[in-house]
Amino acid sequence: MKNYTKNTSKIARICAFCGKIFYRWPSQYNEGRGKFCSKLCKAKSESQPKTPFPSKITRHKYFAIRIPSHPRSHTNGYVYEHILIAEKKIGRKLKQGEVVHHIDGNRLNNDPNNLLVMMLGEHFRYHNTKWQISESEKIKFMKSLAMHQ
Ligand SMILES: [Zn+2]
Ligand SMILES: [Zn+2]
Repeated sequence: MKNYTKNTSKIARICAFCGKIFYRWPSQYNEGRGKFCSKLCKAKSESQPKTPFPSKITRHKYFAIRIPSHPRSHTNGYVYEHILIAEKKIGRKLKQGEVVHHIDGNRLNNDPNNLLVMMLGEHFRYHNTKWQISESEKIKFMKSLAMHQ
């Protein structure tokens, strides 16, 4: 059993140059830094006119990067990073009707251990049930629903 509270100090991001997952301290993205996995990627991106995957925090407080070709991208070409990280975790693209849930409720915590792929209906039920059980019991229940763990 993995420990879900571990790793919450650093957050998972997707490199704006190479698209790899990396970890940074939250203070770095608050300052607008921490967009690249390495100094090399930062240097490479500065030497060309356009960053391959420009990133931002959306109005709804999610990390998003621009990949217009991704099936889950919005009309502006941005796709949520938690979708990309969940897809890397399960090794395939999300299917129709699948959504990504943040276990600790923090939308900016895209640690793979904090992300759970659920069906839309399960996810709705999860958020709309008046639970009589503890947080850890809830997580156990969600994991039993999720098919890709
Ligand atoms: Zn990189
Ligand atoms: Zn959720």
